[in-house]
Amino acid sequence: MSKINNQDKIVAKKHFGQNFLKDSIVLEKIIESMPNSENIVVEIGPGLGDLTNKLLKKRDVVAFEIDRDLCNILKNRFKDEIKEKRLILNCGDVLDFWKSSLIQKPYDLVANLPYYVATNIVLKALRDRNCKNILVMLQKEVAKKFAAQCGDKEFSSLAILARSAGEVKRVFDVNPNSFEPPPKVMSSILFIKKDKNLEDIDFEEFLKAAFLAPRKTLLKNLSKKYDKESIKNIFEKLNLPLNIRPHQVATSIYHQIFKLVKRMRDGSNSTKEKP
Ligand code: SAM
Repeated sequence: MSKINNQDKIVAKKHFGQNFLKDSIVLEKIIESMPNSENIVVEIGPGLGDLTNKLLKKRDVVAFEIDRDLCNILKNRFKDEIKEKRLILNCGDVLDFWKSSLIQKPYDLVANLPYYVATNIVLKALRDRNCKNILVMLQKEVAKKFAAQCGDKEFSSLAILARSAGEVKRVFDVNPNSFEPPPKVMSSILFIKKDKNLEDIDFEEFLKAAFLAPRKTLLKNLSKKYDKESIKNIFEKLNLPLNIRPHQVATSIYHQIFKLVKRMRDGSNSTKEKP
């Protein structure tokens, strides 16, 4: 626990992933990195409201904050904005609000995410058809995974899912000193400009199988879930070496393999999934 800005009653709650961004230069850089759009902004975890305050100068905001104590502080700090309906503040766990879409209109997600649930939140936003852009702070290692390129050792299903939804980049890194209390890890801002949604849950299952043992061959991994001979045929058709590793295969090729797996499974039954 740690005191924030001499406000004796406010202590950061570790279990909610509370590291408050106090560096005004970083806050400004996040605002400058926002995509050009008219969409409403969704902020997950407004905390003490420093980022919220800057976001409200640009757009209307819908925010979700799990911590009731912080919610009371926010209700007080943004009394006028809430009254004018420029800020809608939802108090509770964002995951409880998230059905197929988090809100019923197009939105951009801009947030300094709680790290313990950040990967899950980005994946949900990638699947959410109302989410148009994602600009979030996460642990640097996780941001690197989402932004990895084919051939990088971090290239895995997270990067493939992000790239399947749109353009992905790591915008800048943020030092622990920019937060109060400082986290133990470096952070990064990740940007995903979505032009598609991840709608096919079978594709996510297929990727899980592909990266089951990331250092083994892709053939070996996929053969655990699908018929080996059929996978070999698909590799031949796509001119893929049988010893290729999962991180060496580009996103577009994964989509081609998946299409052929599905076609063979639905058509001839020869790519039957193993029980
Ligand atoms: N946005 C603030 C900032 O930049 O200083 C706070 C960021 S802090 C890293 C993460 C925030 O997410 C905290 O306010 C925390 O209480 C909130 N939070 C954690 N888990 C949450 C959840 N499941 N749903 C909504 N908010 C959550």
